[in-house]
Amino acid sequence: MFNSNRRDFLKSSATAAGASLLFGAAVGQAAEDQGGEAKAKSPFTLATMPRIDVHTHIGNTWKALDDVMELRKAIRQRLDADLAMWFSLGSADPPDMDELRRRYQGRIQFCISDFKLKLGGPFRFSPQELVDWQKRGVVGFKFYPGWNPGIQIDRASNEPVFSKMEEIGLVAASPHVTNPCGTFGRRTEWFQEPVEFWRQQRAWENVLKKHPRMVVVNAHMLWLCYSDEQLDCLRYMLSTYPNLNVDLATTAVFLHAVGRDNLRSFMIEYADRILFGTDMASQWFVPVLDKQFPEVRDKVPQYQRYFDLLETDKELPSGIQDESKLRGLALPQEVLEKIYFRNAMRIYPHVAAALKQLGYFG
Ligand SMILES: [Zn+2]
Repeated sequence: MFNSNRRDFLKSSATAAGASLLFGAAVGQAAEDQGGEAKAKSPFTLATMPRIDVHTHIGNTWKALDDVMELRKAIRQRLDADLAMWFSLGSADPPDMDELRRRYQGRIQFCISDFKLKLGGPFRFSPQELVDWQKRGVVGFKFYPGWNPGIQIDRASNEPVFSKMEEIGLVAASPHVTNPCGTFGRRTEWFQEPVEFWRQQRAWENVLKKHPRMVVVNAHMLWLCYSDEQLDCLRYMLSTYPNLNVDLATTAVFLHAVGRDNLRSFMIEYADRILFGTDMASQWFVPVLDKQFPEVRDKVPQYQRYFDLLETDKELPSGIQDESKLRGLALPQEVLEKIYFRNAMRIYPHVAAALKQLGYFG
């Protein structure tokens, strides 16, 4: 039987067949109690592991960023969880980078962003400007081709920017390609036209094919998360393009349309390629709760919704209007560590150094 409390769940799973995937403190203790072989133990628990939100729109004023630090304290107190770091993706430009590091010791990282592409481009930054921004310490480049019919992300004039990103190792940070498109009877207000949806998906795949060394963390599970069949397509993309990863921002409101066992199996199989992100400070960060708690410092229940989805097997409200139900995935701790911080440490610059400096690794 599943237990709805996430820590109890981990404890009660210690003797289950899936225990080999778990190595939290509680589980390690249980294994020793049974005379089991001591195996590599994580130094972290759910309470102490550093969680990183790689997809937010928190803006660039010191007041807004100070509010995020207040939110961090509230999450610590109310959820017993450590949200250690946020990425701001824009559309705000980065603030003074030295002052940013001084004030927040790396807890807030910035990307540069380009929302002009949705209007047909060209890219806002030249290849040389990308080099300059990378030197100044941004962790990636967010671009937003959007979903307007006819958008050609794979057109020739975009090539120099992708080539430069590949050459200098600048991460494509949460590029947003197309928009959710359901199946018959479940189309969305954003994307009614499946043929155009799949054309845009293929255009993005053309970019990945031409630039296999470009490291990408596509936003919103590449919007291939609104049916079991779309999840199959995402499996194909991840297994074909080894430098492709995805973040989870906003997907929680669509995942009710995917079978729970299918989704859980996907999250475990591709745990090295999935990153925690939320779209915090956009209107799509758990929309119903966001209307109740619009201030950044109060957004604890929204984060709890994401944590519950990943860590517990509770039944949760889901959908844009909370109109559906979704049972939490109760993922093993090893998988949670990858999604919450280990993948971000491996993929983006500055993150591992900042976490070490902050004392997370002794
Ligand atoms: Zn976003």
